[in-house]
Amino acid sequence: MNLAIFDIDGTLTDTNQVDAACYLQAVEQEFGIKGVDDDWSRYPHATDPGILHELCLRHRGQAPSGREILAFQTRFLANLKDENRRQPELFREIKGAGTLLDWLEASPHWQAALATGGWAVTARFKLEAARLPGHGLPFASGDDGMARRDILRSALIRARDRHGRFQRVVSIGDGVWDVRAAGDLGLAFIGVGNARKLGQAGADKVISDFSDLPACLALLERAAGPASRL
Ligand SMILES: [Mg+2]
Repeated sequence: MNLAIFDIDGTLTDTNQVDAACYLQAVEQEFGIKGVDDDWSRYPHATDPGILHELCLRHRGQAPSGREILAFQTRFLANLKDENRRQPELFREIKGAGTLLDWLEASPHWQAALATGGWAVTARFKLEAARLPGHGLPFASGDDGMARRDILRSALIRARDRHGRFQRVVSIGDGVWDVRAAGDLGLAFIGVGNARKLGQAGADKVISDFSDLPACLALLERAAGPASRL
């Protein structure tokens, strides 16, 4: 059995822009912090908890408390729901993502898992808004840690707990941080989206979306590497 681990924003859901806008709106609403650097690649951890932690340190010299994080998540989710009511077209799937997940679920050779740097509550809302399957998939999120590699590792362990050991594993993501996290864990990687940016970060296999299912499946087969030392 092989495993494909998917990032969510920008990989399965075309939500990077609306996600960042709603997140930054919540940063201002909850913490009064404006004009922040929105190039997440310049943050130590490009994840929801990692960015909030860093912003609070930079702008007020103190990490957010558990209560503040909870209030922030509530606000962030409310912003996403408002935006989804106003502009549902901002919450589309990446072309072909649902079909690919369905295919993997039906395949006797592949399983899928989800590993997102977003918090679970907002990540699941975006999946639902994009009408994607995947509710029952092994899932790890920003609730499991600040570092992408830890989240990716959690998803892999949960998938293994459910399905047993995998022969081959591939991580699929759209961020330069996804390339690095896969590299840290010794996992094969497929990039989605910006080939130049991901290529510079070290990804040698990049697709624009999943609309060509046979091509995606061929790439998965070619890319998947040994299931690493984990
Ligand atoms: Mg992403």
